[in-house]
Amino acid sequence: MAESRHLVCITFDFDAMSGFIARGMTSPTPISRGEFGVVAVPRILKLLDEYRVPASFFIPGHTLETYPVESRMVADAGCEIGHHGWTHRPPVTLTREEEEEELTRANEQIKALTGSYARGYRSPSWDLSPFSVELLLKHGFSYDSSMMGHDYLPYRVRRGDVIELEKPVVFGRPTRLIEMPISWSLDDYPHFEYVRTRESLLPGLQNANLVLDNWVNEFDYMKKAVDWGVLTYTFHPFVMGRGYRMMILEKLLKHLKDGGATFTTMESACLEYDARDPQQTTA
Ligand SMILES: [Zn+2]
Repeated sequence: MAESRHLVCITFDFDAMSGFIARGMTSPTPISRGEFGVVAVPRILKLLDEYRVPASFFIPGHTLETYPVESRMVADAGCEIGHHGWTHRPPVTLTREEEEEELTRANEQIKALTGSYARGYRSPSWDLSPFSVELLLKHGFSYDSSMMGHDYLPYRVRRGDVIELEKPVVFGRPTRLIEMPISWSLDDYPHFEYVRTRESLLPGLQNANLVLDNWVNEFDYMKKAVDWGVLTYTFHPFVMGRGYRMMILEKLLKHLKDGGATFTTMESACLEYDARDPQQTTA
């Protein structure tokens, strides 16, 4: 039997204020809230370096242009730079043309920063459009990280599902695009951020040690459930950079390391999946 191997991807969406602007929250306080991400980035890079953890940062074009120095710092630290839209508007809210324009514009910036186009894409607010898969394939992406169809195993993204109310789903064909699945439960934002708008209230502000308990158990269960798997955590510098949250991030890295996790970038985990489970698809 092959040796078991449990990969962990530590990922950060370096949104800064782009997500607030995309929601129309442009007054000074939400802008400053995003600005805190820049305070957090050096702290995070230092911690990652201490634990020798390779990480993936998904950076919107808006952040790449607003904070070129900090974006360079992330790239120079050896982190993978993934695509996270330009304006941080979710693709499902855009026309096909707007979505492609965002893909191209931010990808050129990523190429200017790293020397190559992004291999991976994570949609802002995790909501792909009906055009996203086709556009990601057209623009040469290897993987997406916006869907929730598995917890520990990557899979091939389908194209051409037919979804109609009062009818069973007709599944489309798998494509060569690989999904590196995510989950809101493994994302810092809903657990910690307090966001009040006219329409909604996100309470956030949970006890960090209780959240840590969930995150640790996800890894421990992965070891029971699969011999080979990938667990992806999604953090945001402006969320995770607060002191008491940095403390649990360090505890998490320590637990994972002691538990035998192999830390990799998403791109590396994606390549490893592809090598283990090649699937000939032409869709
Ligand atoms: Zn984001």
